Amino acid sequence: MRVKVPCATCANVADPKKYQFRIFDGELDDVGYVHVACDKGHKSIVVYDSRRYEVLLESATSALLAGYANEAISTFSTALERCYEFYIRVVLRSRGIAPGEIDKSWKEVAAQSERQFGAFHFLRLLEHGKPLNLNAKIATTRNSVVHRGKIATTEDALEFGGLVYARIKEIEDSLSKNKKDVEAEQKHEVESQKQQVPEGVEYVVMNAFSVKVDPETDEVVGLPDTFQEYLAGVQRGKETGWIA
Ligand SMILES: [Zn+2]
Repeated sequence: MRVKVPCATCANVADPKKYQFRIFDGELDDVGYVHVACDKGHKSIVVYDSRRYEVLLESATSALLAGYANEAISTFSTALERCYEFYIRVVLRSRGIAPGEIDKSWKEVAAQSERQFGAFHFLRLLEHGKPLNLNAKIATTRNSVVHRGKIATTEDALEFGGLVYARIKEIEDSLSKNKKDVEAEQKHEVESQKQQVPEGVEYVVMNAFSVKVDPETDEVVGLPDTFQEYLAGVQRGKETGWIA
């Protein structure tokens, strides 16, 4: 996925007084690195501190804005699946399960999204005493697009994105009682990314998050609550060159 990032070498090596923040095109890979080549000939790595489900959510929204409704729906769907995984990892961590044991157990369900959903569903019930109110439309739309090749409209993708976004928000809200473990899981991800940077390569860690922009004043006014706000933020990011 293409993203916009600063050059790590310019940022790390330059005299802080003379450093001018500029962004370049980079490619985000599966480890969470953005490989960037700046106009001074530096090749460096930006460690992208963003959860996988957040990256996929932005990718799906970009596809939607570019008019690719089917691609948007299937990517929104994988974003939700990765959000279930994040929830499971945080809750297990909060119950004292070591990350290594979580990884070992995850391998058994890694290829089956229905099993992952089952694990999420009952863990969420155990944590809150009530199941999450699930809208069946998410599964039916996903299956008709992914399995039956339905040609989706922009309206379908907008509706689907809205349902997925709302569920992700509910999952994030559910994790509000596990703040410490959310932070620990994020830190664990970034640490393992940092450890894999090849020796001698400059890197910086960049926290990537979405913002809500006031359409009147064009100012950042907080974090998006609704899908409409999120969508508007991504669109604005593209117009201003912050999002590839
Ligand atoms: Zn540079």
